[in-house]
Amino acid sequence: MKIALIAHDKKKNDLIRFVQKHDQEFIKHELFATGTTGTRIQDEVGLSIHRFKSGPLGGDQEIGSRIANQQLDAVFFFRDPLTAQPHEPDVSALIRLGDVYNIPIATNEGIANVLIQAIIRNEL
Ligand code: PGA
Repeated sequence: MKIALIAHDKKKNDLIRFVQKHDQEFIKHELFATGTTGTRIQDEVGLSIHRFKSGPLGGDQEIGSRIANQQLDAVFFFRDPLTAQPHEPDVSALIRLGDVYNIPIATNEGIANVLIQAIIRNEL
């Protein structure tokens, strides 16, 4: 599967921990990420990952474009709901495209736990 990983700054540690916990599953898939998130996953988890631009510089839109072209199967997007994001319109656009194309986007760790179990059981 093609899986994208994104985390807002205050959620990056949570996403790294989540990916570390499930690294034996993530290693089986083709991974994509926004710039800073991807660098951290590469450095701290050791997974190979295709990195787009940083989120505020267009990375969310690049991932949205992948969704629109049916080149992504699932997205883990650990959002920070308590901090204003300069690129909020891009975040909304990405989630909207997920809805348009029925791509599962886990926007918090609770639903991420459900989504990863579905991926592990090959249920998507
Ligand atoms: P980043 O982008 O991984 O480059 O920090 C994430 C985002 O804020 O959308």
